[in-house]
Amino acid sequence: MLVKVKGLVLRSEDVGERDRLFRVLTAEGKIYVLAKGAISSDGKPRICLLPMLYAELVLYKKGDRYWLREYEVLEDFRKLYRELDRLLLGQYIMSLADRVAVMEQDRSALLSLALNSLYLLAETEKPCAHIKAVTELRVALDEGYAPRLEACIRCDKPPQDGKAALDVMGGGIVCSDCLNSGPTLMLPPEADEIREASLLLPLSSTVLAALRYVFTAPAKKAFSFTLPDEEAERLAEVAELYLLSHIGEDFPELKIYKDTVKEAYKQK
Ligand SMILES: [Zn+2]
Repeated sequence: MLVKVKGLVLRSEDVGERDRLFRVLTAEGKIYVLAKGAISSDGKPRICLLPMLYAELVLYKKGDRYWLREYEVLEDFRKLYRELDRLLLGQYIMSLADRVAVMEQDRSALLSLALNSLYLLAETEKPCAHIKAVTELRVALDEGYAPRLEACIRCDKPPQDGKAALDVMGGGIVCSDCLNSGPTLMLPPEADEIREASLLLPLSSTVLAALRYVFTAPAKKAFSFTLPDEEAERLAEVAELYLLSHIGEDFPELKIYKDTVKEAYKQK
């Protein structure tokens, strides 16, 4: 059966000497698409489908397997390639989407988020750290890990001074009163898991407000705010720690991105 779908290419890998396998995010979930003869006998690519391309694909479908027949690129985010940090961040976002997307599950929110992030990276001057932080938080939201940010998870009251700490695995914020007066969790030294479970990240009132905004804004507006530099940096740290604590930390693309940014910063 022939089907037509729109999808974002997340990854591609060689299969044998001549074929390529693409992982493609569609609104209905992630699919694996095999392109037979994608590499010619002299080793040159015969099709130019690459990660970070959004395309309309004509596929032959049998069961849950797909073979590429034709494709038309709808958006190539070409300007992503003008700066290395933006390109590397784009690759990390593809690997994030690849990690969380499963087959045959409605992923329209994740698809729009990934497309929106790539658009902002390619077409605007929005800082990488901002795009990365909002993307990570919205992935957490889409995955069902949104923390409770309005009231303290221990006393159920809104934080009086506007400040709080985010209990990463506890599902929300803890107010200053509870932090100061509450029972201190005593940890046996070998209990790594418990220590992880009690990861508390202090938040200023500005960073808390930014978190509330990102977790509740409509998809199209989630990126539309600015923060002073120091607060933006803190939001970036919190976003990364929060998401990776929930979905796992082994993203080689993230390490490459961070090493590159650090290196560029040193050279300035
Ligand atoms: Zn409290």
